[in-house]
Amino acid sequence: MNVSVDVVRANLAEIEARMAEACARAGREDRPRLLMASKYLDVEQMGILSEAGISLVGENRAEGLEEKWNRWGDTFEFHFIGHLQSRKVRDVVPYVSLVHSVESISLVEELDKRAGAEVRVLLEVNVSGEESKYGILPAAAETFLERAAAHRRVRFTGLMTMAPFTSDPESTRPYFRELRELRDRLAIAFADRYELTELSMGMSNDYAVAVEEGATIVRIGSALLSDD
Ligand SMILES: *Cc1c(COP(=O)(O)O)cnc(C)c1O
Repeated sequence: MNVSVDVVRANLAEIEARMAEACARAGREDRPRLLMASKYLDVEQMGILSEAGISLVGENRAEGLEEKWNRWGDTFEFHFIGHLQSRKVRDVVPYVSLVHSVESISLVEELDKRAGAEVRVLLEVNVSGEESKYGILPAAAETFLERAAAHRRVRFTGLMTMAPFTSDPESTRPYFRELRELRDRLAIAFADRYELTELSMGMSNDYAVAVEEGATIVRIGSALLSDD
């Protein structure tokens, strides 16, 4: 993929302006974090992101993560946003400060085993119920966290979702709202075990709606790279 610093910088400025407008519309005073979904770029191209002012990247694959971290671990904070298989946990945990995509108890067990002092994670929720999507269903979230709670080194800090892909961003609003309401309920139910503050939601086509609905982290890829 062809990328230039100027393009990424201009896209970033526009996205940040739209996020600020969305915060204003929603009466929010906090600022969500922008995570660059870096799957489109190879190791060397990631330098462009830092030049353009990006400091947080999200990786989808365990393969190559160590190499990217060796090269850029001082430059970026790394999160893991892709589907994570239990047998890959050891290749991911040392390099990332947050895993967005936890959705099975066997994965929680493996994370607990491989964590140092602690590993911070989000629960991936399939709010739309589409069969093609990872994540646990909203109705199963409370029982899931009750089971996960025994694994003391795994600290849930919030929820993540992928909304259905659509050309009309407004149609994603009910899914984002549902994730926020679920987070609010779980935050109360698990207040003595977890501090559930994060909502990782919103991508290139729908981040403004997600920010209006309370996203604390938006995951953006193509909108930062597009040259039109
Ligand atoms: C690629 C990816 C994104 C960003 O998608 P864009 O539509 O390119 O913004 C966000 N989240 C996850 C989990 C991804 O894999």
